[in-house]
Amino acid sequence: MGFRVHFVVDPMGWCCISMVFFVWIYNSFFIPKLILFPHYEEGHISAALLIGYYVASVCCVTSLIRASVADPGRIPQDPHIPLTEKELWELCNKCNMMRPKRSHHCSRCGHCVRRMDHHCPWINNCVGEDNHWLFLQLCFYTQVLSLLTLALDFCQYYYFEPLARVQEQELFVFKHELAFLRISTFMGIIMFGGMSGLFYTQLTGVLSDTTTIEKMSHYFDDTSKPRKPWQQTLAEVFGTRWKILWFVPFRKRQPLRVSHHFASHV
Ligand SMILES: [Zn+2]
Ligand SMILES: [Zn+2]
Repeated sequence: MGFRVHFVVDPMGWCCISMVFFVWIYNSFFIPKLILFPHYEEGHISAALLIGYYVASVCCVTSLIRASVADPGRIPQDPHIPLTEKELWELCNKCNMMRPKRSHHCSRCGHCVRRMDHHCPWINNCVGEDNHWLFLQLCFYTQVLSLLTLALDFCQYYYFEPLARVQEQELFVFKHELAFLRISTFMGIIMFGGMSGLFYTQLTGVLSDTTTIEKMSHYFDDTSKPRKPWQQTLAEVFGTRWKILWFVPFRKRQPLRVSHHFASHV
């Protein structure tokens, strides 16, 4: 995959990804300023919580940026098709190019993508074979970050002791604390609710080795497909058998199978 930047020109996608960034900025700058740092300074919360919050935040934004600018698995202009694999390729009737089976033509991006799952406006990119792992990480870390934010909002409202000292220059923030907390809680509920549902459908899809497009078109007959062990399906998507690395967005994915050669092709 490499680190080549892949940028989709789509104003609707730019609006969607800007909204996601806004939620991230709000959570990552405002919540620490309003809740984490003041209560840490007064000894109400531990350094571990502060560090944990920032780790979730950095992993979240890294997977968002990388999923958005990564090449999802675009088919090259003049693909080299080995003779032995000829029957595994087909012609796309939209772009008139040969592509491996299980590829799909994205009408928004205007090209075919290997093992395309779906086009996601929230990352303004296709989710395909090469960036599916980053999309799963994004779903996971968004849930962690929004759950932590909701817990902090709840504690700030009901449990934390009032702050002993409030800086003069930060008075505005603390004066309007309730409004800021309500906005944060509202966004937290939307993000956590939406992401939990999405993460569940994504995981069930990955574990049954079926993409969202295939599920929607009922292309695959689940009963006829040999079921792979869950470790293998996840290792193939994340590009490593090291389970701890499945959670790390700061690395390069190494495909475990030939990219256009699938054990369960149709
Ligand atoms: Zn095509
Ligand atoms: Zn697309």
